[in-house]
Amino acid sequence: MTAQKTQARLIEGKPIAAELRAEVAAKIPGFVARKGRAPGLTVVLVGEDPASQVYVRNKGVLTREAGMVSDEIKLPASTSQAELLGVVARLNADERVDGILVQMPLPGHIDTQKIIEAIDPAKDVDGLHPVNAGMLAQGMEALVPCTPKGCMIMLEKIGAQVAGANALVIGRSILVGRPMAALLIGASATVTVAHSRSRDLPGLCKAADIVVAAVGRPEMVRGEWLKSGAIVIDVGINRIPKEDGKTRLVGDVHFASAVEVAGAITPVPGGVGLMTTACLLGNTLTAACRRAGIDPGAL
Ligand code: NAP
Repeated sequence: MTAQKTQARLIEGKPIAAELRAEVAAKIPGFVARKGRAPGLTVVLVGEDPASQVYVRNKGVLTREAGMVSDEIKLPASTSQAELLGVVARLNADERVDGILVQMPLPGHIDTQKIIEAIDPAKDVDGLHPVNAGMLAQGMEALVPCTPKGCMIMLEKIGAQVAGANALVIGRSILVGRPMAALLIGASATVTVAHSRSRDLPGLCKAADIVVAAVGRPEMVRGEWLKSGAIVIDVGINRIPKEDGKTRLVGDVHFASAVEVAGAITPVPGGVGLMTTACLLGNTLTAACRRAGIDPGAL
């Protein structure tokens, strides 16, 4: 039996991310009026990874555009773990800093987990600290990693029926897969988490009403694997070579085949990627409000 041909609804990140950033920006004057200063985000970049440099620059621009204070600390790739821990300790102690984001990946000689654990959980706007991860796992209010949070907002915006749905998360990283699974459980989905040791991934996909692909393997999930009408959230960002020697970005889902079977799908680029920074701004405002004892709903 061939899958019924449909043309999936595109879930575009641009308007949803812009709306979220505007919601954050609208609350900043109220915060300033109460606290006498704007929320502050400091991003720490170690080394010169070109992709990380672009991300950090974009984060700075959008943070300032939202009316918040953005600081960037650029350190050489030779920075020692002790030096980086020193920078984190200084930022933890700085009253004006509400959010700390250490851009990953870090150079190989630095123990990433040690750095994550050194960040004050109250300022951990990346949501990677075990305290925040544990609170999320227990269904408590936490600072939630930005990318999965963005995926959930996209599902909400399209009115997806998450409660009771079979959701498949492909990937179990602390950055995307695990927090995504926790958020979906929190939204009452029936959640399966697949990873590199999972058997019969096509079969798992076929049973899923919602598929979140966070694998890092270009175009791995094929349209033929999907249930007709499934909602597909493609977190993957992979650069692959083109015939003309240049490169292009693709997701973890084979878009051309998936768009004919899915009910709704995020494009790459232009999908989840745009939500991540918007959620970072939201997390910075949340962290700032909690630290100041302000109810963000009242701003
Ligand atoms: P990661 O840490 O490398 O994790 C990848 C996960 O995929 C692992 O859990 C791995 O399983 C699993 N996996 C690998 N091969 C698989 C296979 N053949 N079948 C099933 N599962 C497999 O990556 P990540 O940080 O979560 O990122 C995933 C993707 O999302 C990447 O393309 C990344 O660039 C992208 N990303 C995008 C954003 C955004 O803003 N849009 C943000 C973050 C990441 P094991 O655990 O068994 O190794």
